[in-house]
Amino acid sequence: MCEPRNRTGESMNHGQIGLTRLNGELHRLRDRDAQEFTIDAGIAVADLVRTTLGPNGLDKMLVDSGRIVVTNDGASILDRMGIDHPTAKVFVETAASQNARVGDGTTTAVIVAAELLRNATGLLDRGIHPTAITNGYQLASKHATATLAANAIEVDRDDTDTLERTVQTAVTGKWDRDAAARFAALTVRAVRSVEGGGKAGLDRLTLKAFPGGSLADAELVEGLAIDLGSSSTTLVSPDAELPTVFEDARIALIDDQLTIETADAVSRVSIDSPDDRTAFTEYEESIYSEYVTDLVDAGVDVVFCQKSIDEPVRSLLANAGIVPVERTRQDELHKLARTTGAEPVQSTDELGPRSVGRATTVERRPINTTELIVVRTPAAEHRSLILRGGTVHVAEETKRIVETCIRSLVALLEESAVVPGGGAPEIELAYRLRSYADGVDGREQFAVGAFADALESVPRTLASTAGMDPIDTILALRTEHDRGNQYDGIDVESRRIGDLAEKRVFDPLRVRQRALVNATEAANTLLRVDDVIAASRSAEGHGHDHGTSSDSGGYPWAIGH
Ligand code: ADP
Ligand code: MG
Repeated sequence: MCEPRNRTGESMNHGQIGLTRLNGELHRLRDRDAQEFTIDAGIAVADLVRTTLGPNGLDKMLVDSGRIVVTNDGASILDRMGIDHPTAKVFVETAASQNARVGDGTTTAVIVAAELLRNATGLLDRGIHPTAITNGYQLASKHATATLAANAIEVDRDDTDTLERTVQTAVTGKWDRDAAARFAALTVRAVRSVEGGGKAGLDRLTLKAFPGGSLADAELVEGLAIDLGSSSTTLVSPDAELPTVFEDARIALIDDQLTIETADAVSRVSIDSPDDRTAFTEYEESIYSEYVTDLVDAGVDVVFCQKSIDEPVRSLLANAGIVPVERTRQDELHKLARTTGAEPVQSTDELGPRSVGRATTVERRPINTTELIVVRTPAAEHRSLILRGGTVHVAEETKRIVETCIRSLVALLEESAVVPGGGAPEIELAYRLRSYADGVDGREQFAVGAFADALESVPRTLASTAGMDPIDTILALRTEHDRGNQYDGIDVESRRIGDLAEKRVFDPLRVRQRALVNATEAANTLLRVDDVIAASRSAEGHGHDHGTSSDSGGYPWAIGH
């Protein structure tokens, strides 16, 4: 993916290693060579995602043994590339961490981190020690995040319009405007519906995506949706016609299986003769009918079983008007227990009034080629977002984007503050960091300046993806910010600069702050490297290493600080 070069300019592709050979097994890169090796890799990773930034960013098509994913989400792209290079991995982890914490801002974090590395190269060339650079970057990052918070715009938690606008910013470019607005509204409604006591309550929100149908078919359903296709839950069509809706339904949860336990059976029946076989069949039937009788006696309408249900039992249950659902995932069983008040039992004879749960309705709904069971409870405290997309890929990408919406909304609700988008904060921070740098002693001052320059890579990239001249745009923005227009950024729709707060393009404060912190951490981690050691592996079949060293082209890497 990246081919760092050593001092003599020869390629150090680790397949044909050009690192200093210490002995037959060990190769080593030191000082500037090590720094170049790590920095080049970081920049190469950022180049992979750069063109996806912003509403006009382009998609990437990832093709992997016939499977195709089209996405413009930085974290998904990097996650799916299976990058092995040890330093590039630091960047991939940065994107993953940004995504996990706040769901958005991944591309920004990677682009800024790469720019910090690129600018560090210039400082290293001037003989500035890596420690002075990392210290300066740290100072700048702290100052920038504090300044960002001080100038953020507070949002009332009930200000639905601003919440929706902010969620929309997180997904423009991923969908058209109308779809973005619709999904932003749906996300706000969904997250709001499970909020309780100032807490997000996301464990009470289930997200399901199905191929077939269109984006517009997305709906927020009251209740817990159990998907019989993609979860391992299977409802095998029984002979009898079961109702599609059960009112005031009684639910049983079996934490085991409804089958004949062979070991148990064999100890009691030995099948040597036709008589024995008849005896065994009778034994089987008696066990099966016990299961059914227990469930009928407990007045159960739907039984969810964590493991399998033997076919004859399913038929008997269906005939008795009970819906048998087998192989329900453990996490879904827990959710069912929580929402219906049912207590999972190991066997049907343990069923009693306390272990049977209640639901206002249980509805079976056909959805594409599968079926969905929606369980509504009296408190109706669970919600499910049912997403649709033309194909499996579209459905999956839709789910990823909605997850981004949800996390970015949660990030916003946690802090109740936004900053304008379109590169406005980065230009403002760069402007302020330059004056802050004047007061910083020593060589760190240069690093603070380099940090300010690196921030401008965000509006510069946004300008390029919007088809504007990056240099003219940055100069114009600097002038506006110098005049005190701190919310001026790139209005990508009109391809002009303007006040982004007025245009109501907002990002959650927390997302922007995290992107800066993560970018600084990634760059500093790599800048502290002055030693790369690779031990070649003579034998095949070694396991993969984990952590900072990883298996790469047959060489386990160790990064020294
Ligand atoms: P990231 O992974 O960093 O979130 P995105 O591709 O989502 O990358 O782009 C985010 C950037 O695009 C942010 O700087 C955001 O402010 C900007 N942006 C999003 N929507 C708009 C818009 N309508 N106008 C201007 N800038 C926007
Ligand atoms: Mg984004």
